[in-house]
Amino acid sequence: MTETIDGEAVAADVRETVADEVARLSDAGVEPGLATVLMSDDPASETYVSMKQRDCEEVGIEGIHVEIDADAPAEELYETIDDLNARDDVHGILVQMPVPDHVDKRTVLRRIDPEKDVDGFHPENVGRLVAGDARFKPCTPHGVQKLLDAYDVETEGADAVVVGRSDIVGKPMANLLIQKSPVGNATTTVCHSRTEDLEAKLADADIVVAAAGIPEFVDGSMLKAGATVIDVGINRVDADTEKGYELVGDVDYESASEVAGAITPVPGGVGPMTRAMLLYNTVKAAGIQTGVDVNL
Ligand code: NDP
Repeated sequence: MTETIDGEAVAADVRETVADEVARLSDAGVEPGLATVLMSDDPASETYVSMKQRDCEEVGIEGIHVEIDADAPAEELYETIDDLNARDDVHGILVQMPVPDHVDKRTVLRRIDPEKDVDGFHPENVGRLVAGDARFKPCTPHGVQKLLDAYDVETEGADAVVVGRSDIVGKPMANLLIQKSPVGNATTTVCHSRTEDLEAKLADADIVVAAAGIPEFVDGSMLKAGATVIDVGINRVDADTEKGYELVGDVDYESASEVAGAITPVPGGVGPMTRAMLLYNTVKAAGIQTGVDVNL
């Protein structure tokens, strides 16, 4: 019997924990604040940012939003980051990616104060994660880790395959899975577009994390019976719906769910976890910056 991993439910638990810690901070006179910065006209980016702001409101985090004209000089974004770094009421800073081509993404990531880097993409935080001393775990892989934990998926000694090696999903995911720590200790293979014989690797995997950005790329015939399948992908495909598209994952849910032991749906799997872990990191950041103990 295949178990559906309910990301909405686990994310609701995370939000509840976060709200409790917001209350604890508030008792100590601290109101955690998350600044989102949008420098884009892309409607999808606008939607993501407004969802993040709504999430903040739900758990009692103060949302601060800054919009910068997509044609403005890059320096305007860098200076905005400097201003937010200096503000005591801002504990987390998130610059919505992608930024326009004339902006240097690396400069953006380096410019954010590492203690406010709630995405966990600053080189200092990347280094700490790799060293097993994470300050902020990037939201998507951290969310996957929480899902595996919530569903008691045994990672220790398991063969895990991560499909994708991006800086935001694949690489940090693999780093978390190999850590000598709970929900780690997996023997982890990272696959990418140059991987040969992906099928053979997937066939042996106890845990598959699919993050290639290719609609329904992994299907049931490629999976080991009983595998845990985590589908990170969010892909828009044309469909006969009101919006003219639908969202599908990187896994063909129908065939995979006949073989897998447990599987995340899209939507309702990893997506809600990514959003919840941003709130988690923001509250953690507020604790770090103010010296108030938070249980996260
Ligand atoms: P990227 O495009 O940055 O990375 C995709 C990765 O997949 C690359 O490493 C690429 O390899 C690899 N890949 C491409 N083709 C193949 C192939 N044929 N076989 C094996 N590997 C392949 O994507 P992201 O990591 O940013 O995102 C991945 C997916 O997850 C997307 O659908 C995205 O929308 C979604 N996403 C979902 C989130 C959520 O909250 N649920 C959050 C973030 C992303 P190479 O490096 O060689 O090019």
